[in-house]
Amino acid sequence: MQVFKFGGASVNSLDRIKSLVPIFKEYAGQPLLVVISAMGKTTNALEKVAECFYRKEKDQALLLFDQIKQNHLQTAKTLLEKDYLSCEERLANFFTEVEWLLHDQPVQSYDYYYDQIVCIGELLSTSIVSAFLNESGIKNEWLDVRDIIRTDDNFRDANIDWEFTANRVTHLVKPLLATNGIVITQGFIGSTDENESTTLGREGSDYSAAVFANLLDAEKQTIWKDVAGVMNADPKFFPNAQLISTLNYTEVIEMAYYGAQVIHPKTIKPLQNKSIPLHVKCFLDISLPGTLIHNQSVKDLPPIIVWKQNQVLLQLKSKDFSFVGEKPIADLYQIFALHSIRPNMTQNGAISFTCVLDENPEKMDQLAFEASQIFEVIIEKGLSLLTIRHYVPELLDQLISGNEWILKQETRETVQALIRR
Ligand code: ASP
Ligand code: MG
Repeated sequence: MQVFKFGGASVNSLDRIKSLVPIFKEYAGQPLLVVISAMGKTTNALEKVAECFYRKEKDQALLLFDQIKQNHLQTAKTLLEKDYLSCEERLANFFTEVEWLLHDQPVQSYDYYYDQIVCIGELLSTSIVSAFLNESGIKNEWLDVRDIIRTDDNFRDANIDWEFTANRVTHLVKPLLATNGIVITQGFIGSTDENESTTLGREGSDYSAAVFANLLDAEKQTIWKDVAGVMNADPKFFPNAQLISTLNYTEVIEMAYYGAQVIHPKTIKPLQNKSIPLHVKCFLDISLPGTLIHNQSVKDLPPIIVWKQNQVLLQLKSKDFSFVGEKPIADLYQIFALHSIRPNMTQNGAISFTCVLDENPEKMDQLAFEASQIFEVIIEKGLSLLTIRHYVPELLDQLISGNEWILKQETRETVQALIRR
């Protein structure tokens, strides 16, 4: 059996939803566990609803939610001929869940409400797509993933209870796959032992799919995207970006670490642990080969370029000309851990420590304040971090030409340069 994951872009219009039919026909007769994201930008729209609700702007929250509701009802109405009423009933239950909540006053944490509201996006999209596929002759069973994926209550970044979830997969999902062939469910969401909804972090559907692939011992996981596969650079910045036909897990983890937005970083581990290959394929043209990611070594990779913007340089100097030794560094990392901050590059000098971080306006001031208890702190914002894996020196020169570099670091595999434009 295989696991498929369709992202928001693959279900963001009527045409795109319709174009799923030939994909399923291509795999007819094979058991498939299908994970689908919320449609298009629905998650962002639901985040706005949660923000308004938490600011006690109830009318605005209800108004924004109503737009999401009407969009989904309209989509369902246009797509479905026979099954509209039963689909509408299911959608209405989800709408009511959220509307009830929106009529209340917030008394719990923001993250809790965020998850109760935002989780609805995938429930709506999967309900509509499942009904549409059934009407189109692709028989499938819809499953509320909150009955399967059990998590802790670390809202917005919940951790999976693997043992409980594995048990559910064995007793509920496997029999469904055996009898129905295709099971359609949600990515990104789960539920606590008290039936509160949770989310696994933005873009978490790839990870949900990998959890299923692991627990079902899938032959393969396929992520369907609107691009040809994994490219060696972002084509928005590099028109000459090329497709990489094979990669291995390690390379993908490295790419994700340096900021390439290829696949959700948590996705790889569940697959690697069971050597399940990951295929990135294009839903716009299923004849394209895509990118295959596996466990074996891959030779002759092209240079892989990652360009991270909105970087902050944090320069820390000891206050009294003493060496920056293990104690102040340990204290600094404790501050990082407290605020969940992960430096993208660091450099240690005699009386200074330099690090490069993602710019996060909410955390920056607090971080600077706390670091200033240990060091003298200088901050520079608005920088870019260029990373090239498998680089050739000429390429680095070419990419930084005309810009000023502030910090450079290289290993045999990877070079990084912090750039002021
Ligand atoms: N819908 C969620 C998001 O936009 C999860 C996902 O797409 O993977 O972040
Ligand atoms: Mg998405």
